[in-house]
Amino acid sequence: MRNLEEQREYEAIQRAEEKVRALSVSLGRKPTACVVTFGCQMNARDSEKLAGILEEAGYEITDSEEADFLIYNTCTVRENADKRLFGRLGAVGSAKKKSPWRKLAVCGCMMQEEIHTEKIRKSYPFVDLIFGTHNLYTFPSLLDAVLSPENEGTLLIDVWDKADAMAERLPSRRKYAFKSGVNIMFGCDNFCSYCIVPYVRGRERSRRPEEILEEVKRLADDGVKEVMLLGQNVNSYGIKVPEEERSCFVDFPTLLARVAETPGIGRVRFMTSHPRDLSDELIEVIREHGNIARHIHLPLQSGSDRILKRMNRGYDRERYLFVTEKIRERIPDAALTTDIIIGFPGEEPSDVDQTIDVVERVRFQNAFTFLYSRRTGTPAAGFPDQVAHDTAQQGFDRLLSVVQRIAGEETAAHVGEVQEALAEGVNEDHPGLLTGRLSNNLLVHFPGEAAEVGQFVRVSLDEAHGFYYIGKRV
Ligand code: SF4
Repeated sequence: MRNLEEQREYEAIQRAEEKVRALSVSLGRKPTACVVTFGCQMNARDSEKLAGILEEAGYEITDSEEADFLIYNTCTVRENADKRLFGRLGAVGSAKKKSPWRKLAVCGCMMQEEIHTEKIRKSYPFVDLIFGTHNLYTFPSLLDAVLSPENEGTLLIDVWDKADAMAERLPSRRKYAFKSGVNIMFGCDNFCSYCIVPYVRGRERSRRPEEILEEVKRLADDGVKEVMLLGQNVNSYGIKVPEEERSCFVDFPTLLARVAETPGIGRVRFMTSHPRDLSDELIEVIREHGNIARHIHLPLQSGSDRILKRMNRGYDRERYLFVTEKIRERIPDAALTTDIIIGFPGEEPSDVDQTIDVVERVRFQNAFTFLYSRRTGTPAAGFPDQVAHDTAQQGFDRLLSVVQRIAGEETAAHVGEVQEALAEGVNEDHPGLLTGRLSNNLLVHFPGEAAEVGQFVRVSLDEAHGFYYIGKRV
């Protein structure tokens, strides 16, 4: 049964549909819509929901930014993300003059910051709609409003500073037929000193387990084989919920087990874990369920206790090594990947040495390494001891060479094994090859037919090439 918010939004989709039908008559073709995503998996999932609503309203979804309805779903995690957006907006502005029926919307994390909405209001007046992360579920009403003739030429801005309600059952258009992200929670309460997420995505909110399980079942019924449970800190799922609702929630390991036990779901992934909160129960649930991916992404950020403290990460290197050793011991076939920031304020070469030392000990399958980027609005942006670019770059290069060497060695260690891969698509450069994803998240290219995309296949890993394999079906 739909709640009030869902009912209201479904009615708005119907109203928008009438307007899209009228536009279709005047254009003499079906209008098109495109959602461009910047940023993380959470944004990608939000974009699927936006595309689903546009499709339900009668648009044909396309990848072309020349679409009749274009949305930029923005990211603000890195300082220069805004430059990418504003460059794109300028180009669309001139095209829009020639086709005035076209609509342009901007949403996502960046729009939660007034400085950006103000800039659009002043410098890009041809934008039709701005909305934020908290009211994404009201997009049908906003779409209806933007398509209304009385709002022609007006910039509608609707950005909330927090979310009071969640509308769960709105349309969504999956990018892949066979795999899907599933949000289990929104926001973050951790306030790492370099990160803007808690300010733009709000405080932590967990979805009810029955809503999540119902969505997973619906996806399985629709042919989805792999789901990825999404949250900024999945390990704290269900913890910070109002006292009166506590009995309705379960913890993350229990939720993960229930998702893995859903008939039809061949593989479950999750992202992102926090080293402070990853529990023994979670490790055991992964161990006991062969269809939970043998891949744990556990952001380290730094291997130096001094820097971890300044980052407000809530753990030290000893805790990180303890958790990863336990994972290695209980789930020996699990690949560990991580995120590392180099050049954080106050970082010295000896801190980088400490980070490299953790990388050597843990032996990550891969590490996403970032040069620290000063993010306005975060505590770390105000730290006085910012690191010079050249110094940071030297540390980065030192780290990267170790990361790449170990990643290559870890990949090569599996050559000769036979593993199960989910065939994700036809290789773009070599159409006779399929690209499959292994449980440990590595890719394998092997000869196959397009009809096999979306299926699990057993593949021998014959040759290792850095981060991928060449193999064949067995
Ligand atoms: S855990 Fe830290 S880095 Fe991750 S989203 Fe929350 S505040 Fe940002």
